Amino acid sequence: MFDADQMRGSGLSAVVIGAGVGGLAASLRLQASGVSTTVLDSHDWPGGKMRQVSSPAGPIDAGPTVLTMRHVFDDLFAKTGASLDDHVALIREPCLARHFWRDGSMLDLTDDHEINAEAVAKFAGETARSEYMRFSHEAANLFELFRSPMIETAEPRLKELAKTSLGNPKHLGVLSPFAKLSRHLKRRFSDDRLSQLFGRYATYVGGSPLASPALLSLIWHSEASGVWRVSGGMHQLAVALADRFQAMGGTLRLSCPVSEILINSAKVSGVRLRTREKIEADIVVYAGDPRAIATGRLGADVAHVASQTKILPRSYSARVWSFASKLSEGPELVHHNVFFGRDANAEFRDLAAGRMPTDPTLYVCAEDRGTGSPKPIGIERFEIILNAAPLTKAGPNIDEEETCRQTTFQTLARFGMTFDPTPATSALATPSTFETLFPGSAGALYGQSPHGMTASLKRPRARTDIPGLFLAGGGTHPGAGVPMAALSGKHAAEAIMKDHVSI
Ligand SMILES: Cc1cc2nc3c(=O)[nH]c(=O)nc-3n(C[C@H](O)[C@H](O)[C@H](O)COP(=O)(O)OP(=O)(O)OC[C@H]3O[C@@H](n4cnc5c(N)ncnc54)[C@H](O)[C@@H]3O)c2cc1C
Repeated sequence: MFDADQMRGSGLSAVVIGAGVGGLAASLRLQASGVSTTVLDSHDWPGGKMRQVSSPAGPIDAGPTVLTMRHVFDDLFAKTGASLDDHVALIREPCLARHFWRDGSMLDLTDDHEINAEAVAKFAGETARSEYMRFSHEAANLFELFRSPMIETAEPRLKELAKTSLGNPKHLGVLSPFAKLSRHLKRRFSDDRLSQLFGRYATYVGGSPLASPALLSLIWHSEASGVWRVSGGMHQLAVALADRFQAMGGTLRLSCPVSEILINSAKVSGVRLRTREKIEADIVVYAGDPRAIATGRLGADVAHVASQTKILPRSYSARVWSFASKLSEGPELVHHNVFFGRDANAEFRDLAAGRMPTDPTLYVCAEDRGTGSPKPIGIERFEIILNAAPLTKAGPNIDEEETCRQTTFQTLARFGMTFDPTPATSALATPSTFETLFPGSAGALYGQSPHGMTASLKRPRARTDIPGLFLAGGGTHPGAGVPMAALSGKHAAEAIMKDHVSI
């Protein structure tokens, strides 16, 4: 639709602030479309939250671990004339996660509904089998309903959604439009463990099942459609995006914090770095957390942009352990493991009150385990994630690191798991760590809170009211998660091309 040669001829230049997945996706598309693009990031690595830390067993992922919707990245690489598989090795993980409860029960869910139905029936009886099939079918329908008018649309409108999906009486039963996810799941599953399991998907976008809308059950469909592991860790996907961008002639400058977005004659004119260096550009894409703009971190001239992010509640943060250790004893782990809290709701009540949960659900990524990997002998790499309140909500946490250390490893010990050595508190990232790494986020990892029926319509969009200034990243529409952030980059690039194609 857009002629790259024509764009190259136009001499259009863009600066993208932020080498997270959203910024990189936008940059690749812009560069491929003939816009001379420079990406700037404060950090000395590409990928933002998709980062790694070092350990005696090699680099460990300290951010996302679950890659879904790989077609988003197939499409992105294809746009640059390349194949994703030639740039990064993805391994499909048929086992989506192994789930453990304190009563000793265990359930593996896979990307095959028939296998799952059988496993669910063994786990919770024949009624649960049909409940599972019904729920999965509804989740698939919901995903399809929202895919085009919401996820793949740059400017979703309630009116359009009402016409295509919400307004159709046939779908009302599926949507339970006014129900919270937890209530919806109570109606769908007679076994509480299954409601707890599927309710956890609200945390994928930083929400509680007690307050998120029932439609978030569509996340299950996205996960059940396939989960991939990236050889060398998720960070390698960011490296592949950055390498491809540079191979296309794009400029990537790391350790380059931007202090100001410059405006001239009511239009974007470039950026100023913290070093005072000025870079002129026709287009600026801000691909960090939009709350950073709204809180004045990019200058007074743009501080009115994304102003809703200052008022609306923030999504969850997390406490994240990344370490290498020997698993001395414990249950057989797969790549993705979930250890559920005793009371499904206690954790979310604590988080709502800004407290550190005392009975948390723990996600354990055994990074060296999974399809095709031999069982590790000796030390291996782990990432453990606990949900946490964002700093806008968090109460005082006295001795936070040590308390979290005790909660995490005592909880796992109750499931029979012990690590030798138990990691030191230096292996922990807290909400304050995330605010330091991603200033303006208040430690929230998924932008605005997904709580409330219309939350997903309230995110900032790619186009702003300042000509030449665009937004991308997980804090903007269509929201957080690696593929969604990449789609936000697509929306930004397409909005730019639409606005400038006549130049
Ligand atoms: C612990 C954890 C686990 C997660 N698990 C998953 C998962 O399993 N699956 C999944 O899909 N998602 C997961 N997510 C969410 C996912 O990682 C994010 O939604 C996604 O990576 C966000 O990408 P982004 O484009 O918003 O950029 P970010 O990763 O937020 O990066 C933004 C970049 O912008 C830069 N920046 C901002 N302001 C400036 C400035 N002024 N100057 C220069 N640079 C600037 C920052 O330095 C940063 O590098 C997880 C996140 C975390 C933290």
